[in-house]
Amino acid sequence: MHILVTNDDGVQAPGLLALAEAMRPLGRVSVVAPDRNWSIAGHAKTLSRPLRVNEVRLADGSQALSCDGAPSDCVALALMGLLDEKPDLVVSGINPTANMGDDITYSGTVANAMEAAISGLPAVAVSVDGLDSSCKTVEFAAAAHFGRRVVQQVIDNGLPLRVYLNVNVPCLPLGEILGCVVTRQGKRLYFDELIKRIDPFGRPYYWIGGDPPGGEGEADTDVGALAAGYVSITPLQLDLTEHHEIENLSRRQW
Ligand code: MN
Repeated sequence: MHILVTNDDGVQAPGLLALAEAMRPLGRVSVVAPDRNWSIAGHAKTLSRPLRVNEVRLADGSQALSCDGAPSDCVALALMGLLDEKPDLVVSGINPTANMGDDITYSGTVANAMEAAISGLPAVAVSVDGLDSSCKTVEFAAAAHFGRRVVQQVIDNGLPLRVYLNVNVPCLPLGEILGCVVTRQGKRLYFDELIKRIDPFGRPYYWIGGDPPGGEGEADTDVGALAAGYVSITPLQLDLTEHHEIENLSRRQW
């Protein structure tokens, strides 16, 4: 079993090392990650310029590759021949903030799993809810523990083709997490505010600020599961079609 570990926070992010260490008992681990933080950059493919890859060392001395492309470029390169042996599974994270509800559409962490799923590989994205108001310091130990459990489960039993898992872990000590539940995608509530300021040359600039997002989610959603103290495992698919609307909209005159 050859596991590709990647993230969107950059190759030196502590969550990446925690995830790589958690994966080592499960097989051969290769780390390929962006050379800087690309959080909230979504799913990208860089075709307009060359991509450069460098050998780097993680904080524990282990080898990794960094790439100056987007997170999903790192996955694409690794799956297209950058590594001497093609990975069997891709795991992305550990992101220090949750990727729940509408976050999924922005998330580079989840985009990495999407990229793997497009290539037909099983993939898991792992995030910890570091923006939760009760979270004092982001701890990766519990998320690493549950990430390993989920990946072991995927190795043992597989995943349907083009399905990938979005795992979110509460920011709690391991002993206080109640277990894992399989959920559906919930709804994020964003409190974004447009900040307008004037630069030193008198021109306005804009910055999206505001409070951290909240969530609206029944108990069977990712948001609901974390609020109740559980790890959320959401199966996602690449097909974004709203299937019910095919029939409804077909009745209209287009
Ligand atoms: Mn991130």
